[in-house]
Amino acid sequence: MAALSIHIDWAPLIWAAAVAATMLLDWIVMQRLVKSAQAASNLRFGALIGWMSATFAVYSSIGVYFWTYGGEYGRCFALIQACAGMMQAAMQMRASRPLVAAAVVGHGWILLCIPALIGLNGVGAAPVLIGIGGLGLFCWQLFNLVNRSAAESASLQQASREAEIERAFTDSIIDNVPNLLTVVDAETGRIILVNKAAQVIGGTRREDVIGRGYEDLYPADQAAHLRVLDAEAVAADRTPPFRDEKITLENGNVRTLRGRRVCVRDDQGRPRYVIVTAEDVTDMREAEAQVVRLAHYDSLTELPNRVLFRTRLNDAFNDALRHSRPAALHWIDLDYFKEVNDTLGHMVGDQLLIGVAERLSSAIGPNDTVARLGGDEFGIVQRNVASRDDAATLAGRIVDSLSQPFHLSGREVRIGASVGIAFAPIDAKTVDELMVNADMALYRCKQAGRGGHSFFEREMTDRRRARRTMEQELRAAFANGEFSVMYQPQLHLKEGRIAGCEALVRWKSKGRFISPAEFIPVAEEIGLINQLGEWVLKEACAEAAKWPAHMKVAVNISPAQFKDQNLVRNVISAVAHAGLSPDRLEVEITESTLLQGSQTNLTTLFRLRELGLSVALDDFGTGFSSLNYLRQFPFTKIKIDRSFVSDLSLSLEAVSIVKAITGMAASLGMDTTAEGVETERQMEMVTGYGCTEVQGYLVSRPCTPADLKAVFDRYGGFDDSAFAPVSSGDAELWLATG
Ligand code: C2E
Ligand code: MG
Ligand code: MG
Repeated sequence: MAALSIHIDWAPLIWAAAVAATMLLDWIVMQRLVKSAQAASNLRFGALIGWMSATFAVYSSIGVYFWTYGGEYGRCFALIQACAGMMQAAMQMRASRPLVAAAVVGHGWILLCIPALIGLNGVGAAPVLIGIGGLGLFCWQLFNLVNRSAAESASLQQASREAEIERAFTDSIIDNVPNLLTVVDAETGRIILVNKAAQVIGGTRREDVIGRGYEDLYPADQAAHLRVLDAEAVAADRTPPFRDEKITLENGNVRTLRGRRVCVRDDQGRPRYVIVTAEDVTDMREAEAQVVRLAHYDSLTELPNRVLFRTRLNDAFNDALRHSRPAALHWIDLDYFKEVNDTLGHMVGDQLLIGVAERLSSAIGPNDTVARLGGDEFGIVQRNVASRDDAATLAGRIVDSLSQPFHLSGREVRIGASVGIAFAPIDAKTVDELMVNADMALYRCKQAGRGGHSFFEREMTDRRRARRTMEQELRAAFANGEFSVMYQPQLHLKEGRIAGCEALVRWKSKGRFISPAEFIPVAEEIGLINQLGEWVLKEACAEAAKWPAHMKVAVNISPAQFKDQNLVRNVISAVAHAGLSPDRLEVEITESTLLQGSQTNLTTLFRLRELGLSVALDDFGTGFSSLNYLRQFPFTKIKIDRSFVSDLSLSLEAVSIVKAITGMAASLGMDTTAEGVETERQMEMVTGYGCTEVQGYLVSRPCTPADLKAVFDRYGGFDDSAFAPVSSGDAELWLATG
């Protein structure tokens, strides 16, 4: 059996496979290059052209080879290859028209050109021409393509430039927004954008911040806090409100930023970024704090002022009500502060107040408040007071502490303190009432001799009420003629005769005499003292004009009267009206007159001396008793206070003081009057110590003008005609009540 043998010619098949592989590769590469060429890269475009040229060359040579040496198969494959090229090009048409057109023409050229090249069937020049035309078309397309690509590339460059400008614009806007702007990646927590303001505030360079987390930039607790804020912003369904945050920077500075955080989400609502916008309000907050400080704190001592103190007191009052634990209000007044201020100057006075504030601050407990209430007044709110002793202990500590010497500008300065205490809610129903009551307790403390503390007591309110009543009655008294003047004779010890009398005002109200010690301070307070003083002056001058010519009349002038510009004029007018020689008028002032408005008062005093008046320093030894006063003004007389005279037989100290005063006065050429001499023993003693005059009940009580005659008679007498008719009813009443 003859074997069936099939002859297979492998060469055309291998060629066909090679062509198919080449075309497949061409297809893939073309697809990629066309796409990337559209993405406008010159390099890629060049690669495309190179590839096309290379494939044309390969196709052409393969086609020519097939046609020439491949026999029927070869020609057949060459035709198939050309058709496939056409189809491939047609399919690519969807991707890029110009490129596809070029490819079609290119492949067509191959198809038509190959027969022409080998001179098949004498088709001759026509296909060659068509082929050349096709080549021309291909070149033209190629040229268009290059041109278009250049235009596209130019427009791409333009677009990129514009994008660049746009980005620069946006960047510059973001950078120049005065507010801090930071963008944090919500997922990684890293900072991805900071503007210039953020950079300036933060003090760190942008490149050192970008890509870092809070933990790399801030202390751990602060970073954790910022993370919480970011988390809040991410969790919030609404934009959170503005809030202040304090940030400690890398250099240690603390800034206050006011801002808020907003979360930016993607299409699916997932958090992408946290945008932090904030404003540096450090300076503004400091200015606000300064305003608050000024409104609530005393600028000298830096203690709370009256306004803040009232708020704290109010809180303490409410707490005391709620928890039934009383609070104590300590009202503190410095003793002798005024003297220090006036003698050593305001600078020292200010230093002293600062020192007092420091001592008070260290005397109080952690829940207590100390404040400067004005001038030399301070207040303390003591909370949770268990007993009166608790408050007394604190008050004692305050008084002790403030009575220790202060060392100011190289001097040792000593003052003291008086404290009035009232309890909330026991002593008052309101804060105002509590303050008034503590003040009343302070007043009582001062009256009791300063340098201690007093508790508020109910009857103080009664006394206050009585004082109010007195104020009203005193105003009416003047109009009703309820005042009169009594005269207390002063005995000249060497001459043994009455040298003059002190005029002492009396107020007879509702049939009872009220002591000037009670009503003069009230008259001073309500401003009635000027009118009253002027009236006493006139009365006294008119009365003295009736006495023997060697007798003087002494009139007390209170410090408040020195504020009256008309004082000198009133004096002149009083002596002129009475026809009294000015050298028979003596004014008695106390040390406080020299303390208050020292210079103007001194000028007034000198003016009175020029007019010929005598000036006596009354109650010497009770006040500041500065020898400086005696140097400042040439007093004619020093009146030694009654308290020393009454102590003479009891205290050696009093003896030394009286001796010292008389000795000093003598050396300065001044007279001395011992006040309040009631016994023969006192009389002997003051005479022995060199006093010039005595005034006191031993010689005579203050008497009415009518009663003076009898006293004058007792000490030498004088012309009867000088006296008005005797009418001593008032004097008797005074002696009975006073
Ligand atoms: P003063 O100027 O020191 O007057 C002396 C006071 O001592 C008088 O009290 C007088 O009655 C009292 N006195 C005199 N001798 C004795 C004595 O031996 N024993 C006792 N226990 N007391 C004696 P008075 O009249 O109550 O006056 C008190 C103060 O009132 C005066 O003290 C004076 O500072 C002031 N005063 C009196 N009249 C006036 C006035 O017209 N104007 C002003 N501004 N103050 C006056
Ligand atoms: Mg007097
Ligand atoms: Mg006196």
